[in-house]
Amino acid sequence: MASPEERAEELRAQIREHAHRYYILDDPVVSDAQYDALIKELIALEEDHPDLIAPDSPTQRVGAPVGDLFRPVEHLRPLFSLDNAESREDLEAWEARMERQLGGPPGGYVCELKIDGLAVVLTYRDGSLATGATRGDGRVGEDITANLRTIDVIPLRLIGEDIPDVVEVRGEVYMPYEAFEELNERQVESGKPIFANPRNAAAGSVRQKDPAMTAERRLGIWIYQLGLVDGGPGFDTHWETVEYMQSVGLRVNPASARVESIDDVLAYVEKAEGDRHDMPYQTDGVVIKVDSLAEQDRLGYTAKAPRWAIAYKFPPEEQVTTLKDIAINIGRTGAATPFAVLEPVFVGGATVGMATLHNEDQVKKKDVRIGDKVIVRRAGDVIPEVVGPVVAARTGSEVEWSMPAECPFCGNPIVRPEGEAVARCTGGFDCPSRVREWLFHFAGRGGMDIEHLGYKTIDLLLEGGLITDPADIFTFDVERLMEVEGWGEISVGNLSRAIEAAKDRPVGRLLTALGIRHVGGTVARTLVRAFRGIPALTKAGEDEIAGVEGIGPIIAAGVREWFDDPANRELIAKLGDAGVRLEEEPLEGASSGILEGCTFVVSGAIEGYTREEAQAAIEARGGKATGSVSSKTTALIVGESPGASKTRKAEELGVPIVDAELFERLLEKGPAALT
Ligand code: NAD
Repeated sequence: MASPEERAEELRAQIREHAHRYYILDDPVVSDAQYDALIKELIALEEDHPDLIAPDSPTQRVGAPVGDLFRPVEHLRPLFSLDNAESREDLEAWEARMERQLGGPPGGYVCELKIDGLAVVLTYRDGSLATGATRGDGRVGEDITANLRTIDVIPLRLIGEDIPDVVEVRGEVYMPYEAFEELNERQVESGKPIFANPRNAAAGSVRQKDPAMTAERRLGIWIYQLGLVDGGPGFDTHWETVEYMQSVGLRVNPASARVESIDDVLAYVEKAEGDRHDMPYQTDGVVIKVDSLAEQDRLGYTAKAPRWAIAYKFPPEEQVTTLKDIAINIGRTGAATPFAVLEPVFVGGATVGMATLHNEDQVKKKDVRIGDKVIVRRAGDVIPEVVGPVVAARTGSEVEWSMPAECPFCGNPIVRPEGEAVARCTGGFDCPSRVREWLFHFAGRGGMDIEHLGYKTIDLLLEGGLITDPADIFTFDVERLMEVEGWGEISVGNLSRAIEAAKDRPVGRLLTALGIRHVGGTVARTLVRAFRGIPALTKAGEDEIAGVEGIGPIIAAGVREWFDDPANRELIAKLGDAGVRLEEEPLEGASSGILEGCTFVVSGAIEGYTREEAQAAIEARGGKATGSVSSKTTALIVGESPGASKTRKAEELGVPIVDAELFERLLEKGPAALT
């Protein structure tokens, strides 16, 4: 048995190594839960043996010393870490500690979502963004101004009349799930390492030297803390600072709330946990802050964290289980993707029996072997994945895996071209797995969104020879399903109506559904806005496609290659003949002036548009876009995180509030869409 001293040393060495990998390399090798367990053990050891506490112990400091990739920046006010709570008891104990110090419980709390990203500090001088930095060790961070300037939700100038000389704020840069998944798909395609989670992807996107790369990564930010205001208003509560930050144009999370008691805090936590998987970005808990700034001052700080705030952590979304086998799946592009067959385990709110392993290199890189104990992660809608093996649990009987030489579905060779990360089945559309995945993608939620057409029904239709490609979905005789056991008039009617409805989906959906390389939802909508539909896109040259704002040469080449294939052109013709909409309605005639006489205010980020694009779309149709809501405003168009004051004003004046979906209809049909 190691002595307490030896164990403490061992723990510190491990923690330092993990902190370095996490904070500096953005490439952790253990789960957060495992890391937290090491910290917890060290804290307990130091509490039992206070003589073991060294000033440089990881329990006494924030983050990790900064790396040498960027210039160091000293923060105007130091940044801290947060103490954690996991239960009602932890929160009550926290309140009791504060009650002892204050002589009564705090007057109220502010609850905020704990966003899982990278903490940054933004400093505005005379209203302009002067520096942007990472947290670093809390005192000194890294200068990442050039990268942060490329994130379009970070204002380069604050708005309003009386802008103080200096405003320093803190926030979390994050990557929405959709952007994360698209990024990892691109990484896999180009043979680059994938990111373990959105946090690492966000951190890796701003902690690298090329601002153009940051700009591509579709990052978001939520500002949650006012560090310092010099030459501006004073505040009594944290909530006032939150409202102030929003009023000067900073993006504050709309889910934040001011509450009275610990019971209210618990109700907030419960709701946040329930909503967690519906959020478009990753949250790992709730941060609770004492609202009164005077009370915050009296409570002060420990070496590492404020006493007036605590992070309530959601239960981990990672678990350890046994890897029973590694099998492969042939995807819609023919890519052979290995996946883990697991001893089923309950994680992130569901039982998981399979998890993706991405590609052969990932299996090698992570060194997962059949028979290993592995860490499995399931976070929200992200496909469950194997994070890595628990190497310490190996017995020696584990078996290494390599890609099979033949496709288990069609028997054709699996080939991995030199220099590529992805191995592919060479069976083309003779491979039944490929066809099945293609159809599933086409009908799936990200594609044509055909209800009642999941794997089970697709399998049935394929086995019965009723369909062979996506166009057949719209022409096969649905009534034939009446012959199948379990199918009756109601289920056949439902499927038939769902298929009929899908014919009229926005063309962007069809374009996404086709499964063209690099064409996800955002790219598809951009292409449809530029070309109005598939016929014009089919004819467009590669340069013309690459000339569209937001479309790069790689995407353009992928699109051109797809449409140059005669089989694909035939498919489009077949879809058109089946009555599937290939073109958005033209804008000329009535619709060019369709918004004449109307005035709109755009607030928040509308999916698929920058604010300028949304305004341009209104103006192109003869409408006016202004900055503030008045009784003359036709409608307030709101996206993600709209300004609270604008929404309030619109509600007061009875001005209609329009979301992204209705906005699309408004552009198409004019003010009639509002009725
Ligand atoms: P923390 O959990 O102590 O919380 C502080 C951080 O929360 C802030 O810096 C900020 O980035 C974030 N935050 C998000 N929303 C916030 C809000 N509304 N208000 C205030 N802060 C908000 O963070 P930490 O000090 O970086 O600590 C440790 C975390 O990192 C743990 O979850 C730990 O598991 C993980 N970690 C993991 C490894 C690993 O190897 N897996 C290594 C080091 C740290």
